[in-house]
Amino acid sequence: YYEEVQQAERMKTTGQLAAAVAHEIRNPLTVVKGFLQYYSQDEHLPKDYKQNFSLMLNELDTAEHVISQFLSISKPEQTDEVDRVDMEQILRDVTELLSMYGILHDNSIELEVDEQCLIAANPMEVKQLFVNLLKNAIEASDSGESVSVKAARIGKDVFITMTDRGRGMTQEQVDHLGTPFYSLKSKGTGLGLMICYNIVERYDGHIHFESEPGEGTTVTVRFPLVQQ
Ligand code: ADP
Ligand code: MG
Repeated sequence: YYEEVQQAERMKTTGQLAAAVAHEIRNPLTVVKGFLQYYSQDEHLPKDYKQNFSLMLNELDTAEHVISQFLSISKPEQTDEVDRVDMEQILRDVTELLSMYGILHDNSIELEVDEQCLIAANPMEVKQLFVNLLKNAIEASDSGESVSVKAARIGKDVFITMTDRGRGMTQEQVDHLGTPFYSLKSKGTGLGLMICYNIVERYDGHIHFESEPGEGTTVTVRFPLVQQ
């Protein structure tokens, strides 16, 4: 028991340290980005300079993205409020969020949600979970392909399934999902699914991937249903 407490303490300290480091790195990044943005707007800038500027800005965006992901993992467990969460509301928000960010390259999203799909969780985290999953589904899809999102009550559980017709994965790749920094994308962080697994576990849920290379992927998330 004592060892468990020690381990928990250590994790907490590590988390706080990570959050502090991430913060300290983010500030100088913001400064550098500001200067780059400013100079890149110079009208007399040669063309190849302009290209390099946008390359640098892109790389900074990636670094910022990694840090934000990292911050959300290392955030020390605070009093994250657990509430009754309606999956219909969450999934509508998530779909809208992603279409607003312009991430949707002509991918339509079909949404089909049962009424009263209620779970007990922190709404922000559930949102983050499905933003990550939907983002992956869209990034795996070619333009014009649709992603289907369904939520249904079955027995004492709520099942949310997301199906894409994208590039799919081999079994070996599926087995690696959730491992930190495991990414097959040139600009990926490999942190998204690690966060997803973490969130799902925290609310007594379960996550399962089924995939076929070249055919697509279905991810199923299950949470205990909260009675009305
Ligand atoms: P990232 O998206 O930053 O690469 P993730 O943890 O979100 O990191 O995903 C890890 C990897 O899992 C991705 O790089 C991708 O190769 C694979 N993956 C996740 N979801 C899908 C999907 N729906 N279809 C195909 N591959 C996927
Ligand atoms: Mg991702």
